[in-house]
Amino acid sequence: MFEQVKLDYATNALEPWIDQLTIETHHGKHHATYTKNFNDLVEKAGLTGKSAEEILANLDSVDVSLRQGLKNQGGGYYNHNLYFAMFSPNPAKAPTGKLADAINAKFGSLDACKEEINKLAAAQFGSGWAWLSTDKSGNLSVSNSLNQDNPISEGTGNIPLIALDVWEHAYYLKYKNLRPDYIKAFWEVLDWDKVSARYDEIVG
Ligand code: MN
Repeated sequence: MFEQVKLDYATNALEPWIDQLTIETHHGKHHATYTKNFNDLVEKAGLTGKSAEEILANLDSVDVSLRQGLKNQGGGYYNHNLYFAMFSPNPAKAPTGKLADAINAKFGSLDACKEEINKLAAAQFGSGWAWLSTDKSGNLSVSNSLNQDNPISEGTGNIPLIALDVWEHAYYLKYKNLRPDYIKAFWEVLDWDKVSARYDEIVG
């Protein structure tokens, strides 16, 4: 049974960058629904006991009638677990250790890395996500994706480190049509200590 990540901050703790009503609706309604629907489909498909990453990486092996649903609902479950887990009211504003070195080597600087992600987030037409990902060897990449697709369900071999949700439900209550303002706000509450720890865990 998959469970939503618990918020380790109050729903108003990310104000003014991300407002309380958006967090309550996004985590308490949207993410809760993805999680419930994913659990129902996992049971139906006989996949109980497998990890979400395993399921999303092997969608070709599931019944074709359940495949798109598992991709959408499983992605919705997984992507939001990462999204909500990486925020903090008092975030570290820069990566440390191996991740800091990898970002400098790949992009030249942290600002250049963020700029690449911002461009992909702004350019994503309609609903979707922008990503910073790593492969198991620590090689970083950036990408964007439609709907609830992610680098795992896309079969890239990459694992997401940062999930930037650009569905309108992530920002519309506060930012209306101004997606770029929300993208700027995202970085104000993204905790690089959490991202660095995830990188170390994946790369070892
Ligand atoms: Mn969302």
